[in-house]
Amino acid sequence: MSEITIIGAGYAGILSAIAFWRQGHKVTLVGPELKSLGRTFSLLYGTTLALKSLLDDPDLNIGLKVDTLKLKHQHRWGDLSIHAKDYDMPFLLGSISENSLLAQINLFIHQKTNIEWIYQTSKAINIQNHSVDIENKTLSYDHLIACDGAHSKTRMTANFIAHHIDPATQTSLQVAEIHHAGSIARQIFAENQVFAHVPLSETSIAFYATTYDPQPHPWHAENPLQNYIQQTGFQAISLSPLVQFQSPNHLYPALNSQVLLMGEAAISQGPVGAQGINGIITDLGILLAHPSIESAASSLDAIRNKRYRINQLTRHAALMHIGILVQGFIPPINDFVMHNMLWGGQKTALHEGLQLWDR
Ligand SMILES: Cc1cc2nc3c(=O)[nH]c(=O)nc-3n(C[C@H](O)[C@H](O)[C@H](O)COP(=O)(O)OP(=O)(O)OC[C@H]3O[C@@H](n4cnc5c(N)ncnc54)[C@H](O)[C@@H]3O)c2cc1C
Repeated sequence: MSEITIIGAGYAGILSAIAFWRQGHKVTLVGPELKSLGRTFSLLYGTTLALKSLLDDPDLNIGLKVDTLKLKHQHRWGDLSIHAKDYDMPFLLGSISENSLLAQINLFIHQKTNIEWIYQTSKAINIQNHSVDIENKTLSYDHLIACDGAHSKTRMTANFIAHHIDPATQTSLQVAEIHHAGSIARQIFAENQVFAHVPLSETSIAFYATTYDPQPHPWHAENPLQNYIQQTGFQAISLSPLVQFQSPNHLYPALNSQVLLMGEAAISQGPVGAQGINGIITDLGILLAHPSIESAASSLDAIRNKRYRINQLTRHAALMHIGILVQGFIPPINDFVMHNMLWGGQKTALHEGLQLWDR
Protein backbone atom coordinates (compact mmCIF):
# COMPACT_ATOMS: atom_id res chain seq x y z
CA MET A 1 0.00 0.00 0.00
CA SER A 2 1.30 3.45 -0.92
CA GLU A 3 0.34 6.92 0.20
CA ILE A 4 -1.07 8.77 -2.80
CA THR A 5 -1.63 12.53 -2.56
CA ILE A 6 -3.65 14.07 -5.37
CA ILE A 7 -3.78 17.83 -5.92
CA GLY A 8 -6.88 18.97 -7.81
CA ALA A 9 -10.33 17.45 -7.50
CA GLY A 10 -11.63 17.71 -11.08
CA TYR A 11 -12.47 14.59 -13.09
CA ALA A 12 -8.82 13.50 -13.27
CA GLY A 13 -8.41 13.91 -9.51
CA ILE A 14 -11.59 12.27 -8.34
CA LEU A 15 -11.51 9.36 -10.79
CA SER A 16 -7.83 8.73 -9.99
CA ALA A 17 -8.63 8.89 -6.28
CA ILE A 18 -11.33 6.24 -6.65
CA ALA A 19 -9.16 4.02 -8.86
CA PHE A 20 -6.18 4.13 -6.48
CA TRP A 21 -8.40 3.69 -3.44
CA ARG A 22 -9.80 0.59 -5.12
CA GLN A 23 -6.32 -0.77 -5.43
CA GLY A 24 -5.93 -0.49 -1.68
CA HIS A 25 -3.81 2.67 -1.44
CA LYS A 26 -4.21 5.41 1.15
CA VAL A 27 -5.52 8.36 -0.85
CA THR A 28 -5.60 12.06 0.07
CA LEU A 29 -7.34 14.44 -2.33
CA VAL A 30 -6.78 18.20 -2.13
CA GLY A 31 -9.10 20.63 -3.89
CA PRO A 32 -12.46 22.33 -3.73
CA GLU A 33 -15.51 20.26 -4.53
CA LEU A 34 -16.15 20.24 -8.27
CA LYS A 35 -19.14 22.21 -9.49
CA SER A 36 -21.13 21.10 -12.51
CA LEU A 37 -21.14 23.51 -15.42
CA GLY A 38 -24.20 21.73 -16.74
CA ARG A 39 -22.21 20.25 -19.60
CA THR A 40 -22.93 17.09 -21.49
CA PHE A 41 -20.10 14.65 -21.87
CA SER A 42 -19.87 12.36 -24.84
CA LEU A 43 -18.17 9.24 -23.69
CA LEU A 44 -16.75 6.31 -25.59
CA TYR A 45 -18.24 2.92 -25.03
CA GLY A 46 -15.21 1.68 -23.08
CA THR A 47 -15.35 4.77 -20.88
CA THR A 48 -18.97 4.23 -19.96
CA LEU A 49 -18.21 0.65 -18.93
CA ALA A 50 -15.17 1.73 -16.96
CA LEU A 51 -17.20 4.40 -15.15
CA LYS A 52 -19.92 1.90 -14.32
CA SER A 53 -17.39 -0.45 -12.81
CA LEU A 54 -15.43 2.31 -11.05
CA LEU A 55 -18.62 3.49 -9.38
CA ASP A 56 -20.02 0.00 -8.74
CA ASP A 57 -23.08 0.98 -10.69
CA PRO A 58 -24.06 -1.32 -13.57
CA ASP A 59 -27.17 0.82 -14.07
CA LEU A 60 -25.35 4.15 -14.31
CA ASN A 61 -27.55 6.17 -16.62
CA ILE A 62 -25.36 7.05 -19.56
CA GLY A 63 -28.11 8.82 -21.41
CA LEU A 64 -28.72 8.29 -25.06
CA LYS A 65 -26.51 5.91 -26.95
CA VAL A 66 -25.36 6.89 -30.42
CA ASP A 67 -25.23 3.87 -32.67
CA THR A 68 -24.73 5.74 -35.92
CA LEU A 69 -22.45 8.69 -36.50
CA LYS A 70 -23.16 10.80 -39.52
CA LEU A 71 -20.27 12.97 -40.55
CA LYS A 72 -20.95 15.77 -42.93
CA HIS A 73 -18.09 17.45 -44.67
CA GLN A 74 -19.24 18.61 -48.02
CA HIS A 75 -15.99 20.34 -49.02
CA ARG A 76 -13.86 17.24 -48.75
CA TRP A 77 -15.51 13.92 -48.24
CA GLY A 78 -19.21 14.41 -48.53
CA ASP A 79 -21.30 12.44 -46.11
CA LEU A 80 -20.17 9.42 -44.18
CA SER A 81 -21.95 7.13 -41.76
CA ILE A 82 -20.36 4.91 -39.15
CA HIS A 83 -22.51 2.18 -37.61
CA ALA A 84 -21.82 0.57 -34.27
CA LYS A 85 -22.90 -2.80 -35.62
CA ASP A 86 -20.07 -2.71 -38.13
CA TYR A 87 -17.64 -2.62 -35.24
CA ASP A 88 -19.38 -5.31 -33.24
CA MET A 89 -20.30 -2.82 -30.54
CA PRO A 90 -23.67 -2.03 -29.01
CA PHE A 91 -22.99 1.66 -29.47
CA LEU A 92 -20.26 4.12 -30.41
CA LEU A 93 -20.73 6.97 -28.01
CA GLY A 94 -22.85 7.62 -24.97
CA SER A 95 -23.74 10.97 -23.53
CA ILE A 96 -24.16 11.76 -19.88
CA SER A 97 -25.21 14.92 -18.12
CA GLU A 98 -22.51 16.39 -15.93
CA ASN A 99 -25.00 16.94 -13.11
CA SER A 100 -25.87 13.29 -12.85
CA LEU A 101 -22.27 12.10 -13.30
CA LEU A 102 -20.99 14.40 -10.55
CA ALA A 103 -23.79 13.48 -8.20
CA GLN A 104 -22.97 9.78 -8.62
CA ILE A 105 -19.25 10.35 -8.12
CA ASN A 106 -19.72 12.45 -4.97
CA LEU A 107 -22.14 9.96 -3.49
CA PHE A 108 -19.71 7.14 -4.13
CA ILE A 109 -16.70 8.91 -2.62
CA HIS A 110 -18.55 10.06 0.49
CA GLN A 111 -20.51 6.89 1.17
CA LYS A 112 -18.27 4.07 0.03
CA THR A 113 -14.65 5.16 0.37
CA ASN A 114 -12.36 6.45 3.08
CA ILE A 115 -10.58 8.84 0.71
CA GLU A 116 -9.48 11.87 2.75
CA TRP A 117 -10.66 14.98 0.93
CA ILE A 118 -9.13 18.30 2.00
CA TYR A 119 -11.34 21.02 0.56
CA GLN A 120 -8.89 23.78 -0.20
CA THR A 121 -7.20 25.48 -3.11
CA SER A 122 -3.49 25.42 -2.50
CA LYS A 123 -2.12 28.88 -3.16
CA ALA A 124 1.46 27.99 -2.25
CA ILE A 125 2.87 24.54 -2.96
CA ASN A 126 6.29 23.45 -1.80
CA ILE A 127 7.23 20.01 -3.04
CA GLN A 128 9.85 18.07 -1.18
CA ASN A 129 10.99 14.51 -1.41
CA HIS A 130 8.02 12.51 -0.07
CA SER A 131 6.19 15.47 1.45
CA VAL A 132 4.40 18.52 0.15
CA ASP A 133 3.61 21.75 2.00
CA ILE A 134 0.22 23.14 1.07
CA GLU A 135 -0.79 26.29 2.93
CA ASN A 136 -0.28 25.43 6.58
CA LYS A 137 -0.30 21.64 6.11
CA THR A 138 2.42 19.15 5.33
CA LEU A 139 1.22 16.01 3.58
CA SER A 140 3.46 13.03 3.16
CA TYR A 141 3.31 10.98 -0.03
CA ASP A 142 4.84 8.06 -1.86
CA HIS A 143 3.34 9.41 -5.07
CA LEU A 144 2.20 12.97 -5.70
CA ILE A 145 -0.29 13.27 -8.55
CA ALA A 146 -1.01 16.65 -10.14
CA CYS A 147 -4.62 16.84 -11.36
CA ASP A 148 -5.05 20.59 -11.05
CA GLY A 149 -6.03 21.30 -14.63
CA ALA A 150 -4.55 23.08 -17.63
CA HIS A 151 -2.93 25.85 -15.61
CA SER A 152 -1.55 23.42 -13.01
CA LYS A 153 0.36 25.11 -10.22
CA THR A 154 1.77 21.78 -9.10
CA ARG A 155 3.15 21.15 -12.58
CA MET A 156 4.77 24.57 -12.64
CA THR A 157 6.24 24.10 -9.17
CA ALA A 158 7.67 20.75 -10.24
CA ASN A 159 9.27 22.40 -13.30
CA PHE A 160 7.83 20.29 -16.08
CA ILE A 161 8.75 21.43 -19.59
CA ALA A 162 6.07 21.25 -22.30
CA HIS A 163 6.80 19.21 -25.43
CA HIS A 164 4.66 21.31 -27.73
CA ILE A 165 2.66 24.44 -27.34
CA ASP A 166 -0.25 25.25 -29.59
CA PRO A 167 -2.56 28.18 -29.83
CA ALA A 168 -5.49 28.15 -27.51
CA THR A 169 -8.66 26.40 -28.55
CA GLN A 170 -11.95 28.17 -28.21
CA THR A 171 -15.10 26.27 -27.64
CA SER A 172 -18.72 27.12 -27.21
CA LEU A 173 -21.49 25.05 -25.78
CA GLN A 174 -25.24 25.42 -25.84
CA VAL A 175 -27.94 23.00 -24.90
CA ALA A 176 -31.27 23.13 -26.67
CA GLU A 177 -34.52 21.38 -26.00
CA ILE A 178 -35.72 20.15 -29.36
CA HIS A 179 -38.50 17.91 -30.58
CA HIS A 180 -37.25 14.44 -31.52
CA ALA A 181 -33.63 15.25 -30.70
CA GLY A 182 -32.61 11.60 -30.60
CA SER A 183 -33.66 10.96 -34.14
CA ILE A 184 -31.87 14.01 -35.54
CA ALA A 185 -28.60 13.66 -33.67
CA ARG A 186 -25.66 14.01 -36.04
CA GLN A 187 -22.31 15.69 -36.46
CA ILE A 188 -21.62 18.53 -38.86
CA PHE A 189 -18.15 19.67 -39.66
CA ALA A 190 -16.86 22.77 -41.38
CA GLU A 191 -13.49 24.29 -42.14
CA ASN A 192 -11.69 25.05 -38.88
CA GLN A 193 -14.90 24.79 -37.00
CA VAL A 194 -16.55 21.77 -35.56
CA PHE A 195 -20.18 21.54 -34.78
CA ALA A 196 -21.11 18.53 -32.76
CA HIS A 197 -24.60 17.54 -31.79
CA VAL A 198 -24.80 15.26 -28.80
CA PRO A 199 -28.20 13.83 -27.91
CA LEU A 200 -29.08 14.09 -24.24
CA SER A 201 -32.54 12.68 -24.23
CA GLU A 202 -35.38 12.32 -26.65
CA THR A 203 -36.02 16.04 -26.38
CA SER A 204 -32.70 17.74 -25.70
CA ILE A 205 -29.50 18.04 -27.61
CA ALA A 206 -26.19 19.75 -26.87
CA PHE A 207 -24.37 21.77 -29.51
CA TYR A 208 -20.63 22.24 -29.35
CA ALA A 209 -18.55 24.34 -31.66
CA THR A 210 -14.82 24.72 -31.59
CA THR A 211 -12.33 26.91 -33.37
CA TYR A 212 -8.64 26.20 -33.30
CA ASP A 213 -7.32 29.52 -34.46
CA PRO A 214 -6.08 32.09 -31.98
CA GLN A 215 -8.42 34.71 -33.28
CA PRO A 216 -11.40 36.42 -31.78
CA HIS A 217 -14.16 33.93 -31.43
CA PRO A 218 -16.41 34.29 -34.47
CA TRP A 219 -19.41 34.08 -32.25
CA HIS A 220 -18.34 36.74 -29.92
CA ALA A 221 -20.60 39.43 -31.27
CA GLU A 222 -23.66 37.38 -32.05
CA ASN A 223 -25.02 33.96 -31.47
CA PRO A 224 -25.07 32.19 -34.82
CA LEU A 225 -25.85 28.91 -33.11
CA GLN A 226 -29.30 30.20 -32.66
CA ASN A 227 -29.45 30.99 -36.37
CA TYR A 228 -27.91 27.64 -37.16
CA ILE A 229 -30.49 25.77 -35.14
CA GLN A 230 -33.19 27.61 -37.01
CA GLN A 231 -31.55 27.03 -40.39
CA THR A 232 -31.38 23.31 -39.81
CA GLY A 233 -35.08 23.32 -39.20
CA PHE A 234 -34.93 22.29 -35.55
CA GLN A 235 -37.65 23.80 -33.48
CA ALA A 236 -35.89 24.77 -30.27
CA ILE A 237 -38.23 24.62 -27.30
CA SER A 238 -35.60 26.30 -25.13
CA LEU A 239 -31.98 27.33 -25.54
CA SER A 240 -29.42 27.66 -22.76
CA PRO A 241 -27.10 30.68 -22.59
CA LEU A 242 -24.04 30.42 -24.84
CA VAL A 243 -21.01 29.34 -22.80
CA GLN A 244 -17.54 29.97 -24.20
CA PHE A 245 -14.30 28.38 -23.06
CA GLN A 246 -10.71 28.91 -23.97
CA SER A 247 -7.99 26.40 -23.20
CA PRO A 248 -4.32 26.12 -24.10
CA ASN A 249 -3.16 23.08 -26.05
CA HIS A 250 -0.13 21.44 -24.52
CA LEU A 251 1.54 18.14 -23.75
CA TYR A 252 3.92 17.42 -20.88
CA PRO A 253 5.95 14.34 -19.93
CA ALA A 254 3.94 12.11 -17.60
CA LEU A 255 6.37 11.97 -14.72
CA ASN A 256 9.36 13.66 -13.24
CA SER A 257 11.14 12.32 -10.21
CA GLN A 258 8.43 13.46 -7.82
CA VAL A 259 5.18 14.22 -9.61
CA LEU A 260 2.84 12.37 -11.99
CA LEU A 261 0.63 14.52 -14.24
CA MET A 262 -2.95 13.45 -14.96
CA GLY A 263 -5.82 14.94 -16.92
CA GLU A 264 -5.48 18.42 -18.32
CA ALA A 265 -2.42 19.09 -16.21
CA ALA A 266 -0.69 16.62 -18.56
CA ILE A 267 -2.44 17.10 -21.84
CA SER A 268 -4.85 19.82 -22.69
CA GLN A 269 -6.72 19.54 -25.95
CA GLY A 270 -9.74 21.22 -27.33
CA PRO A 271 -12.75 19.83 -25.52
CA VAL A 272 -14.12 18.28 -28.66
CA GLY A 273 -15.10 14.79 -29.52
CA ALA A 274 -14.93 12.92 -26.26
CA GLN A 275 -11.27 13.57 -25.52
CA GLY A 276 -11.25 14.63 -21.90
CA ILE A 277 -12.73 12.03 -19.56
CA ASN A 278 -12.05 9.28 -22.08
CA GLY A 279 -8.37 10.23 -21.98
CA ILE A 280 -8.36 10.19 -18.18
CA ILE A 281 -9.93 6.72 -18.15
CA THR A 282 -7.44 5.44 -20.70
CA ASP A 283 -4.55 6.82 -18.68
CA LEU A 284 -5.93 5.20 -15.54
CA GLY A 285 -6.18 1.91 -17.42
CA ILE A 286 -2.49 2.18 -18.27
CA LEU A 287 -1.49 3.17 -14.75
CA LEU A 288 -3.41 0.37 -13.10
CA ALA A 289 -2.17 -2.26 -15.52
CA HIS A 290 1.47 -1.52 -14.72
CA PRO A 291 3.11 -2.75 -11.55
CA SER A 292 4.22 0.75 -10.59
CA ILE A 293 3.65 4.38 -11.51
CA GLU A 294 7.28 4.67 -12.59
CA SER A 295 6.97 1.77 -15.00
CA ALA A 296 3.77 3.22 -16.48
CA ALA A 297 5.37 6.54 -17.40
CA SER A 298 6.73 5.62 -20.81
CA SER A 299 3.43 3.99 -21.86
CA LEU A 300 1.55 7.07 -20.68
CA ASP A 301 3.90 9.30 -22.66
CA ALA A 302 3.44 7.18 -25.78
CA ILE A 303 -0.36 7.08 -25.73
CA ARG A 304 -0.70 10.74 -24.78
CA ASN A 305 1.60 11.63 -27.62
CA LYS A 306 -0.58 9.64 -30.00
CA ARG A 307 -3.73 11.23 -28.66
CA TYR A 308 -2.21 14.63 -29.07
CA ARG A 309 -1.10 13.94 -32.63
CA ILE A 310 -4.50 12.58 -33.59
CA ASN A 311 -5.96 15.75 -32.19
CA GLN A 312 -3.65 17.70 -34.46
CA LEU A 313 -4.75 15.55 -37.36
CA THR A 314 -8.40 16.04 -36.62
CA ARG A 315 -7.69 19.73 -36.30
CA HIS A 316 -6.57 19.82 -39.90
CA ALA A 317 -8.89 17.19 -41.27
CA ALA A 318 -11.90 18.32 -39.26
CA LEU A 319 -12.73 14.65 -38.86
CA MET A 320 -12.99 14.65 -35.15
CA HIS A 321 -14.99 11.55 -34.48
CA ILE A 322 -13.10 9.45 -36.99
CA GLY A 323 -10.00 10.50 -35.06
CA ILE A 324 -11.51 9.24 -31.87
CA LEU A 325 -12.48 5.96 -33.40
CA VAL A 326 -8.97 5.65 -34.77
CA GLN A 327 -7.69 6.06 -31.24
CA GLY A 328 -9.59 2.91 -30.41
CA PHE A 329 -7.78 1.05 -33.16
CA ILE A 330 -4.29 2.20 -32.22
CA PRO A 331 -2.50 -0.95 -31.30
CA PRO A 332 -0.93 -1.19 -27.89
CA ILE A 333 2.25 0.66 -27.35
CA ASN A 334 5.77 -0.43 -26.54
CA ASP A 335 5.85 -3.54 -24.43
CA PHE A 336 2.37 -3.00 -23.27
CA VAL A 337 -0.67 -4.90 -24.49
CA MET A 338 -4.15 -3.56 -23.96
CA HIS A 339 -6.31 -4.65 -26.86
CA ASN A 340 -8.90 -2.30 -28.20
CA MET A 341 -8.59 -0.27 -25.09
CA LEU A 342 -10.91 2.53 -25.94
CA TRP A 343 -13.76 0.90 -27.68
CA GLY A 344 -13.71 -2.63 -26.31
CA GLY A 345 -14.88 -1.68 -22.85
CA GLN A 346 -14.99 -5.25 -21.59
CA LYS A 347 -11.32 -5.49 -22.30
CA THR A 348 -10.08 -2.29 -20.71
CA ALA A 349 -7.57 -2.67 -17.97
CA LEU A 350 -9.95 -0.82 -15.72
CA HIS A 351 -12.64 -3.33 -16.34
CA GLU A 352 -10.28 -6.24 -15.85
CA GLY A 353 -9.06 -4.49 -12.74
CA LEU A 354 -12.45 -5.26 -11.29
CA GLN A 355 -11.06 -8.51 -9.96
CA LEU A 356 -8.60 -6.52 -7.90
CA TRP A 357 -11.25 -4.19 -6.63
CA ASP A 358 -13.22 -6.46 -4.32
CA ARG A 359 -13.15 -4.70 -1.03
C1 LIG B 1 -17.31 22.75 -23.23
C2 LIG B 1 -16.60 21.51 -22.84
C3 LIG B 1 -17.08 20.30 -23.29
C4 LIG B 1 -16.43 19.12 -22.95
N1 LIG B 1 -16.93 17.96 -23.42
C5 LIG B 1 -16.35 16.79 -23.09
C6 LIG B 1 -16.90 15.57 -23.57
O1 LIG B 1 -17.90 15.56 -24.29
N2 LIG B 1 -16.30 14.42 -23.20
C7 LIG B 1 -15.20 14.41 -22.41
O2 LIG B 1 -14.72 13.32 -22.10
N3 LIG B 1 -14.65 15.56 -21.95
C8 LIG B 1 -15.19 16.75 -22.29
N4 LIG B 1 -14.66 17.93 -21.86
C9 LIG B 1 -13.37 17.90 -21.21
C10 LIG B 1 -13.43 17.60 -19.73
O3 LIG B 1 -14.35 18.45 -19.11
C11 LIG B 1 -12.03 17.86 -19.20
O4 LIG B 1 -11.11 17.06 -19.90
C12 LIG B 1 -11.93 17.51 -17.75
O5 LIG B 1 -12.78 18.35 -17.02
C13 LIG B 1 -10.50 17.72 -17.29
O6 LIG B 1 -10.43 17.30 -16.00
P1 LIG B 1 -9.19 17.67 -15.09
O7 LIG B 1 -9.51 17.08 -13.76
O8 LIG B 1 -7.93 17.31 -15.73
O9 LIG B 1 -9.17 19.27 -14.99
P2 LIG B 1 -10.24 20.26 -14.37
O10 LIG B 1 -11.62 19.79 -14.64
O11 LIG B 1 -9.82 21.61 -14.83
O12 LIG B 1 -10.03 20.16 -12.80
C14 LIG B 1 -8.96 20.73 -12.14
C15 LIG B 1 -9.35 20.83 -10.68
O13 LIG B 1 -8.22 21.25 -9.95
C16 LIG B 1 -8.61 22.23 -9.01
N5 LIG B 1 -7.45 23.07 -8.73
C17 LIG B 1 -6.82 23.94 -9.59
N6 LIG B 1 -5.78 24.52 -8.96
C18 LIG B 1 -5.76 24.00 -7.71
C19 LIG B 1 -4.90 24.21 -6.58
N7 LIG B 1 -3.88 25.08 -6.62
N8 LIG B 1 -5.15 23.52 -5.44
C20 LIG B 1 -6.20 22.65 -5.38
N9 LIG B 1 -7.02 22.42 -6.41
C21 LIG B 1 -6.81 23.09 -7.55
C22 LIG B 1 -9.73 23.00 -9.68
O14 LIG B 1 -10.55 23.61 -8.71
C23 LIG B 1 -10.45 21.88 -10.42
O15 LIG B 1 -11.45 21.30 -9.63
C24 LIG B 1 -15.27 19.14 -22.16
C25 LIG B 1 -14.78 20.36 -21.68
C26 LIG B 1 -15.41 21.54 -22.02
C27 LIG B 1 -14.88 22.84 -21.52
